[in-house]
Amino acid sequence: MSFTLAIVGRPNVGKSTLFNRLVGRKLALVDDQPGVTRDLREGDAKLFDMRFTVIDTAGLEEVTDDSLQGRMRRLTERAVEMADACLFVIDGRAGVTPTDEVFADILRKKNARVFLAVNKAEGKAGDSGALEAYSLGLGEPIRISAEHGEGMDDLYRELKPLE
Ligand code: GDP
Ligand code: MG
Repeated sequence: MSFTLAIVGRPNVGKSTLFNRLVGRKLALVDDQPGVTRDLREGDAKLFDMRFTVIDTAGLEEVTDDSLQGRMRRLTERAVEMADACLFVIDGRAGVTPTDEVFADILRKKNARVFLAVNKAEGKAGDSGALEAYSLGLGEPIRISAEHGEGMDDLYRELKPLE
């Protein structure tokens, strides 16, 4: 049995970079400037011997601050409803931000099955961010680097029970 995983989190934490790594093709656009990708993107993911469907949430970048939270909420809720579980990504270098807390809240209210990834954690860069991440109350953070492919073995171990 395969499963569907939604990658959620605020803009710029590295969701599309992870999506691209899992899908192995440049399906989701990645840009240094937030504002390139849109809405929900689905792809066939492969992580070692594990295959699943992955959803990238995007399109949150181009709206004004006023409407950001509403759109973010609707899009995240939709992704969560489509998926068996979600991978909530935060930026380990930035630590836990107020916007991350909003996302954590959405996921808790939806009763989603959540895995927590602390990205941009190549080397020791995400150490303090990973510690902070415990405060979200979403379980043990998985330290990864979507860009450099670190932590993929830990991610694999966490996701394996979903198969
Ligand atoms: P999204 O908005 O959450 O989809 O984030 P993106 O995937 O577009 O990435 C936003 C920025 O973070 C880009 O400049 C990426 O190159 C960078 N980034 C993504 N993953 C990593 C990582 O593991 N380490 C570092 N240092 N930067 C990353
Ligand atoms: Mg993106």
